[in-house]
Amino acid sequence: MKIVMVGSGYVGLVSGACFADFGHEVVCVDKLESKVSALKRGEIPIFEPGLSEIVRSNAAAGRLSFTTDLAGPVAGADAVFIAVGTPSRRGDGFADLSYVYAATREIAGAIRGYTVIVTKSTVPVGTGDEVERIIRELRPDADFAVVSNPEFLREGAAIEDFKRPDRIVVGTDDERARAVMADIYRPLYLNNAPILNTGRRTAELTKYAANAFLATKITFINEIADLCEQVGANVQDVARGMGLDNRIGGKFLHAGPGYGGSCFPKDTLALIKTAQDHGTPSRIVETVAAVNEQRKRAMGRKVVAACGGSVRGKTIAVLGLTFKPNTDDMRDAPSIAVVTALMDGGATIRAYDPEGMEQAKAVLPAGVTYCRDAYECVAGADAAVIVTEWNIFRALDLDRVKAAMVAPVLVDLRNVYRAEQVRAKGFTYADVGRGLDA
Ligand code: NAD
Repeated sequence: MKIVMVGSGYVGLVSGACFADFGHEVVCVDKLESKVSALKRGEIPIFEPGLSEIVRSNAAAGRLSFTTDLAGPVAGADAVFIAVGTPSRRGDGFADLSYVYAATREIAGAIRGYTVIVTKSTVPVGTGDEVERIIRELRPDADFAVVSNPEFLREGAAIEDFKRPDRIVVGTDDERARAVMADIYRPLYLNNAPILNTGRRTAELTKYAANAFLATKITFINEIADLCEQVGANVQDVARGMGLDNRIGGKFLHAGPGYGGSCFPKDTLALIKTAQDHGTPSRIVETVAAVNEQRKRAMGRKVVAACGGSVRGKTIAVLGLTFKPNTDDMRDAPSIAVVTALMDGGATIRAYDPEGMEQAKAVLPAGVTYCRDAYECVAGADAAVIVTEWNIFRALDLDRVKAAMVAPVLVDLRNVYRAEQVRAKGFTYADVGRGLDA
């Protein structure tokens, strides 16, 4: 199969590289010249474990190439995937579809012969209809079908998720398009990955429903964590006790600073807007988004409380900036709200993240001091806060940390340490939802 991937970011590059690894001929297109030239030199513009190997080997085998020119490859393609960003639109939170529609117009001008256009970007219900309308209007002669094939990969485990997905959702009523999609994904369903064939609108909504449900699970356990703190219970044990029930499942029941990242915040907002526009408001998701938003700043107040009620004039070491470990992605990371709240309270911030510092510099307030490692970060600090649970923060030499700090205060927003172990070293220790009997 000849595949074009329009947009070579976290999703487009991973999907394109994995499709090439299945044996397809893939051209990844991006409008960012700098990204494309880096990829051509064999440099990977994002941090994603395993990605550089798979990109390099497939490029060397001639199955994967990169270009800014969309028209040439699209003309010869069996399928064109749209994997551009769909960020929150300023003002109302709906998905900004301008990149999707711009890509659609470019694709429309270039298609030759029967072509399947696939929205892999997360797009609100009805976007496929609009993509189809645009192409039909610009190219009444074109032979094409528009399919929704949402992506469920997680950053940090993207290759594994793409190659061993829990399911592949293909939304189309067009039999020819379904056959093309089956050919593209054949290596996966030979591996027993279930393919769920649905209508296009159903596929589009499935992605939002899945993300909103996961965001709800996280927010639910975060509220239980707050209650645990008040009543002296341990949220990790509560979560374990809940999660062992197969109807609930243990995943996404880790209390922490609130969800962030490039998907859950924007996708919950877009679903809320879609539901409101259709006169069926999603009150649960509205509450989840509001509770999560409050929570991130509340984590700043937790640090202030651990510092005795004020951080004015104090130095706080922030360990971990990305929204989760094993990525460099800073989009909507909880660290942004935590750092901002602490700076608002008069603190000076030192920060360290293994992969996210370049992106962090673009989004965190000016004045943050970026450090080379965790120990340099805590040097001279009045408190240290673990915001992202990178493995290297799970096994810190606590004696060395304590010796470097002005005051031994550790706020563990990911519950990576055992309270008694840290307190035995002489730290003041605060965590999330592990009350007195923790
Ligand atoms: P991204 O910002 O990393 O990548 C998007 C890329 O598209 C950018 O490199 C941009 O330059 C390029 N682009 C924009 N317009 C273009 C055009 N007209 N032609 C060519 N290239 C163009 O975004 P991402 O994280 O890969 O997300 C893409 C989509 O996938 C979003 O809808 C997102 O919600 C969805 N998604 C993301 C994840 C994730 O974990 N990141 C997971 C599942 C789904």
